[in-house]
Order: sequence, then structure tokens, then C-alpha cells
Amino acid sequence: MLAKFIHGLSALLQQVIQMVRGAQDTPETTRYQVIPRDHHSISRQGISEPAKKVLHRLNKAGFDAYLVGGGVRDLLLGLSPKDYDIATNATPEEVHELFRNSRLIGRRFRLVHVLFGREMIEVTTFRGNPEDAKQKQSHSVNDQGRLLRDNVYGNQEEDALRRDFTVNALYYDIRDFTVHDYAQGVADLKDRQLRLIGDPVTRYREDPVRMLRAIRFAVKLDFEIAPDTAAPIHEQAHLLKDIPPARLFEEILKLFTAGQGEATYQLLQEYDLFAPLFPDTDSALEEGESDEVIRQALANTDRRVRENKPITPYFLFAALLWPALRVNWRRHLDRGEPNYQALHLAAGEVQARQSQSIAIPKRFAVPMKELWELQVRLPKRQGNRADLLLEHPRFRAAYDFLLVRENAGEDCDNLGDWWTRYQDADEEQRRQLIKSMAPASKPRKRRRRSPRTT
Ligand code: ATP
Ligand code: MG
Repeated sequence: MLAKFIHGLSALLQQVIQMVRGAQDTPETTRYQVIPRDHHSISRQGISEPAKKVLHRLNKAGFDAYLVGGGVRDLLLGLSPKDYDIATNATPEEVHELFRNSRLIGRRFRLVHVLFGREMIEVTTFRGNPEDAKQKQSHSVNDQGRLLRDNVYGNQEEDALRRDFTVNALYYDIRDFTVHDYAQGVADLKDRQLRLIGDPVTRYREDPVRMLRAIRFAVKLDFEIAPDTAAPIHEQAHLLKDIPPARLFEEILKLFTAGQGEATYQLLQEYDLFAPLFPDTDSALEEGESDEVIRQALANTDRRVRENKPITPYFLFAALLWPALRVNWRRHLDRGEPNYQALHLAAGEVQARQSQSIAIPKRFAVPMKELWELQVRLPKRQGNRADLLLEHPRFRAAYDFLLVRENAGEDCDNLGDWWTRYQDADEEQRRQLIKSMAPASKPRKRRRRSPRTT
């Protein structure tokens, strides 16, 4: 009885809100809903202390401030959010002034990071619709409609409609514990649908990275990409070529290190999104190279994430570019270059070309190449070489990579097994293992053409 009454009351309240908003000229496409505290599953306990602190302080200073994005979405799904984003009507400068532990960042999107030890809360000012704005210089697009700057401020509703997916445009108000929904995000959340707000093609043109975000969220949340949102991706995938390589690096890491890299790779391939990101690998696969090393490495990484073990981006990139490396390496061998030199040159070329699409920072690019080069050194174990290799800072990664290659079906003369035993062996057994090796100094036949790592 009481529940029925409350339900009736909340429906009435929503009607009143909609009437008031209607009077304010709300676009008809927007069906605004306020979900009261007892109609959703978010509780304050689920929100991190730093996020609550930021919300309360902004509210106390007279600003509106809401939890938004992944934080609200994940809490409603019963997941624990990776980080918290807050949207407010305070300008970045006003936010910065309120928090000593904050810094202003970004050009494309100006925002504030508030730091609490290792936790960082991202505070953004409500974005507006640039079409209506007089401040056109704050907003700029390139020829394809890509947003280069987006600093036109607006109200909460405009902010909601500038977000990417409906389920990412929900706001939690800590003052009265309500959830604000401008884009039917709650309905999509219930139906497990990932749906872009607005016209999908326009939204992908504004920011092609949204295609990658669609894949990432579909895999992470186990959602279906709504048909209208999915359909244009094949056609628009090429737009990823114009994204600044540094931004893509960050996105790629998020895609492959969230614990479901293998499924993500599969979906990227299905939507033709892998080729513009890794063009050299793509053409190697076209030439018939296998992508099993990529799949195995991603499966490995997924396992490590599940076990809370650290993961190394250079290992991932070494795998993602391995088919490209093999093709280029072979090309150098065909020119008669010695094996190690052929590998070294190919590694440099593959890395340089890749950096035009994804900027792999030096701190990962250097060890990635070392890992590759170790693949031709691992077979060379005579004398004290095996012991020297064991001390190499990249030995462990190179050994793991060798196992991945073997698992993927590459024939490496059981080298992985040998190294596994060598690492477990005592001094005496190690000498035996080296003795038991087939004499490796036997000259190899010159006409062998495929990349040689055994
Ligand atoms: P997670 O943090 O779990 O990866 P998230 O949804 O919070 O997911 P963020 O990258 O933290 O993703 O972004 C926060 C919010 O900002 C998003 O939920 C979305 O509302 C908005 N947003 C982020 N990137 C874009 C984009 N490229 N286009 C439009 N809106 C975006
Ligand atoms: Mg987030």
C-alpha cells in the first residue's frame, strides 16, 4: 500500500518536473527522468570517500555537482567503479580554487584533477551545445567533423547529450540521492544495450575513439552494441587513422589491459577496427601470417589480470606487432642479411612505422625491441651464455614470450621446455643440460629463409 503510494508520488513528481522542463523549451527528444533513491541501487557506502568529499565541497560552495559516467553506470550494475568522474556547473578555475590538491589539465577538454593520495577524481564542467553558443572559438572541428576543442560550457542537460553512450550519461545527486537520466540510460542499462546518444555517424565523426569505447564497454559490461550504434562502425573505422598517436596509445592500453583482451581483439577484428590501429600487422595477416601469438599473449595477459599480477605493456605490443616483425624480418633475410641484423633492422622499421598510428612511449618501445632481439639469443646457450642470459633484465619477459610462441604453434625446438628446466635446475643439472644440447655451432643451411629463432 505504502509502496504503491510512494510510487504514485514519484510518478507525479516526475510529471511535474517534465511539465516544468517543457515550459523551459526542452527539446522533444529528451525524456528527462529523475529516479528517487528507493528506485535505484546506488548507496552512498558504495562511493569512495574522495569522490564524496569533492561532491560535498562543491555543493557546500553553492555549486551543483553530480557523480557521472562510469561511476554511476558501474554502481547501478553492481560493479565497483574503476574511477569516479564528477560533473559540475562550477568552472574549472572555480573548482581549482576550491581544492588545493587539484590541477587544471587538458586543452581539448579542460578539466580538473583532484588528487587524494593515489586516487584521482576527475571534475568536468558541464559541456554545452556549441551550435547554440556564442563562444564559437571555444569549439572547433576539422574537415571530417572531428572535435578539436570542446570547451563551451552549458547546463546539465546539454552536458548529458554531449556524452557518448546513454548508460554513461546518468547523474547521481548526493544531496537527495536521486539519479538523473536525460537519454533513457536506465532503460538501456536494464536491456544491456550500449547506445550512442544522437546520430551515430555524426558522433563517430566528432570523435572516432568512440568506436573503440563501444568495443571496450561492450566487452567489459557484456552489453550488446545497439544495431544503430554498431552499423556505421565498419564504414567509419578508417577515421581512427587521424587520431593523435599519443591518445591512441592510452586507448589501446585500456582496451587490452582490462582483463578481457582476447575478447576485445576478436571484436576489434569483427568491426574492422584493428587494421587502422595496427596497419603493418594487418597486412602481415593478409599475407598469411598467423595471429595466434597475439591471441595467446592476450589470453596470458587476461589470466594475469585475473590473478592480480602485474602486466607489461611492452610484452603486449611485442605480441601485437609480432606478425609484422616476422614479415619484415624475412624480407631482410631474403636480402642475405645475417639473422640478428635482419631482426634488428626489421624491429626498428616496424616500430617506426607503428609510431605513426600509435605512439608507443620509449620506455616501452626499447624493452619491446630487446624482447624481440632476445628471441634469437635464447637458443644460444653454450658456455656461460645461458647464465648471462638469465641475468638479462628482460630474460623473464623474453622467456614468457617464447612460451607464448610455442603455445601458438611455432616450432622452436622445445626451447621453452629447456629453459624451464634450466631455471629450476641446480648447478650440476645445469651443466648436464648444456652438455645435452645438440651441438649448436653446426652451420645452418644458408637457404633457410624463414625467421630463425632456434
Ligand atoms: P571507465 O572509467 O570505467 O573506463 P567511463 O565511462 O567512466 O568508464 P571515462 O573515460 O572515465 O569513461 O569517461 C567518463 C565519462 O565521460 C564517460 O562515462 C562519458 O560520459 C564521458 N566521455 C568520455 N569520453 C568521451 C567521448 N570520447 N565522447 C563523449 N563522452 C565521453
Ligand atoms: Mg571513468
